[in-house]
Amino acid sequence: MGTIEHSEKYSNFWQSQKLGLQQTALATGRSFEPSDFSESSIIYFLRKNYNTMQFHIDKINNKARACTIITKHSTITTPVFMPVGTVAAVKALDAIDLQTLLKPEIILGNTYHLYLRPGEGVIDAMGKLQGFTKFPKSFLTDSGGFQAFSLSDNVKIDEGGIHFKSHIDGSKHYFTPTKVIDIQYNLGSDIMMILDDLVALPAMQERIQASIERTTRWAKESITYHRANQQNNIALDQNIFAIIQGGVDRAFREKSAKELCAMDFDGFAIGGLSVGEANQEMYDTVEWTTQFMPTDKPRYLMGVGTPEDLVENVMRGIDMFDCVMPTRNARNGTLFTTFGKVHIKNAEYTTDDKPIDPACECIVCRTYSRSYLRHLFRAKEITYLRLSSIHNLYYYLWLMKQMRQAILEERFETFRKEFYAKRGVVLL
Ligand SMILES: [Zn+2]
Repeated sequence: MGTIEHSEKYSNFWQSQKLGLQQTALATGRSFEPSDFSESSIIYFLRKNYNTMQFHIDKINNKARACTIITKHSTITTPVFMPVGTVAAVKALDAIDLQTLLKPEIILGNTYHLYLRPGEGVIDAMGKLQGFTKFPKSFLTDSGGFQAFSLSDNVKIDEGGIHFKSHIDGSKHYFTPTKVIDIQYNLGSDIMMILDDLVALPAMQERIQASIERTTRWAKESITYHRANQQNNIALDQNIFAIIQGGVDRAFREKSAKELCAMDFDGFAIGGLSVGEANQEMYDTVEWTTQFMPTDKPRYLMGVGTPEDLVENVMRGIDMFDCVMPTRNARNGTLFTTFGKVHIKNAEYTTDDKPIDPACECIVCRTYSRSYLRHLFRAKEITYLRLSSIHNLYYYLWLMKQMRQAILEERFETFRKEFYAKRGVVLL
């Protein structure tokens, strides 16, 4: 049903663009060839003249935003949490689980992992990420810079790119800004991330400065390459986001944001946070950085975080999030609920017949008891991994929907107070 609605919207959108082009042609007296009205010509025209990832702000409540993003494969309403499917699967789940039980409009894949295995050529041959995984909606792919940095031994960064050794077989590889875009062309990502140079915190000022300058140079190389390809009708449906760096330093964040946001990207991410700094430092950095980001493009905070982090950063104007936390913590026995965390191995749940979260409407909470889940966890039964992942992701996606509704109804601050009150935290 969702897919039909989306394809109708997508086709209505192109119809309206076509009409607009015809009117422009009439008004300006310019003659258009029939080929000017093919979808690719219209996309090219729009890419040249507008920002073509369809992005609409539905409501702003203080700084919190409810927006709609339309890509080729889905209509994404924000704020949005994107489940992480690093190797083209959200761990313990498949596309049927996603489509029937969770219904995300966008998930993540990782360029580094998919490039090493199975190789982007395999995915291209199997109908891109959607054809390969059978998840028909949007994919965002990370550039792989972070994984090359964090998973590999002997990483060496030079002005041209990142040299690294595969964590699988030790083979040597070199990622450059254009190479990671070529890989993402083959993957068919709806949103591609550029290669960035990130720094582990804390870091020396000189190292952060070098990271920003290199990230800006690589961003310029990336956008020039991608837009030139689009002029040759390559990757017209693929969008590209830049990644703002700068640690927790205000001057560096401002510089990085201003330099990148002056370029013609489809959206902007804040990277290099949630890497060990205090929560409040992260929130302050986000609040500081968003003021330099355009309002008319999506804002994505990478790799964040806990339910509290999502609420705090939506309040500061972030639209998109991803994090391994709901799935990884599920597997480790930590379940997220409206009243805080549940550590399912605890003895208090031995004969507890209540669901994980009585307020949650996921299939797991509607069917199984805490007692049963505790037993599956302790028995290391693989069924536990699937059930806990379903609940935690459902909770995250549901939290985003509640936030969106609150923004649309201009009561986000009330929602935030209630969110904390249910966790036993009183906000002043
Ligand atoms: Zn549930």
